[in-house]
Amino acid sequence: MFRPILRAQLAQPLMCKCMQRRNRIGVVLDIDGVVKQGKRAIPGAREALIRLREERVPFIFMTNGGGNTEAQKAAELGELLEFEGICSEQMLLSHTPFRPLAERFRQRRVLLVGSAETAQVARSYGFAVGTMAVRSTQIVKGTEDIFPWPRATCDLPAINVNAPGEPPIEAVLIFYEPADWALELQVITDVLAGGHPLGAEGAGAAALQRAEVYSSNSDFLWQAGYPVPRFGNGAFVCALQELWLKRSGSPLQIQEYGKPYAVQFQAARQLLSQVAKSNEFEQIYMIGDNPKADVRGANFAGDPWRSMLVCTGGAGGAAGGSGRPFGGVERRKTKRGGKNMRMFWAWSFSP
Ligand SMILES: [Mg+2]
Repeated sequence: MFRPILRAQLAQPLMCKCMQRRNRIGVVLDIDGVVKQGKRAIPGAREALIRLREERVPFIFMTNGGGNTEAQKAAELGELLEFEGICSEQMLLSHTPFRPLAERFRQRRVLLVGSAETAQVARSYGFAVGTMAVRSTQIVKGTEDIFPWPRATCDLPAINVNAPGEPPIEAVLIFYEPADWALELQVITDVLAGGHPLGAEGAGAAALQRAEVYSSNSDFLWQAGYPVPRFGNGAFVCALQELWLKRSGSPLQIQEYGKPYAVQFQAARQLLSQVAKSNEFEQIYMIGDNPKADVRGANFAGDPWRSMLVCTGGAGGAAGGSGRPFGGVERRKTKRGGKNMRMFWAWSFSP
């Protein structure tokens, strides 16, 4: 896709602009669909990063993905792209802004929702995993018949939420979409309902929601290795909202993190400032493939953010409404008529 209106904007190489004011430009890159697709690097991504480094343009990665620590993600990405020096300080995962919640809930019990690695991630943020920050699998393991289907055991200690003296679960932190939706949805709705035994309350109109809910991203779909996008955390949250509404008669109250929410873009700017050792930016370019998350979020964030839409990911470059990008990236045809997905944006975008 190539918009004629952008032709003039794209004509001037980045190098010239950066040489003039490189200290005032920052770049924030989405990961899936921008520098990689599934387990494959997108051709040209490595060269783009090399160019940014050569031009001393500070950059970080901001993804609505998660499920592992920032250090692991940085190492994996560096290996995939064969690009040395990506560090955890350049990595903003969907759940990275959950880090301060560890202190807020230090003395209160919370439920952690996500992939198998969520315990390790939460531990790295300072949560007391296994005791005050618990997994649904611990509850299923220790609370008889709360989930009436056989499931894999978990390594963390069993917890009987109905035992005398057990603290109430005061918040649900959704780090990442879990693999076992059925188990998680049952336990979460029980936690939201409260009561004794857990889940006894919460039936009927205007029922109280007895736990706060934090969700790390709202992407309904994401581009994995499979040719067709897969359900993401937003789809899981949709299912939870619908179940809670049907059960309690009240809409779910939820605090959303991740792109396109302002809290995530504030965190990105903070991280970029640390990398650049300056908070003085004339432009911060959000390079993304998702109009609803990357483009809309950057547009809502306002100055100095600029949204740039690449055509290599799930959206295929289509944008509209509030997802209209500030700029775009060409997708060229090869001589054989196939799509040339090379990411040449690092050479071609300009304010
Ligand atoms: Mg993406």
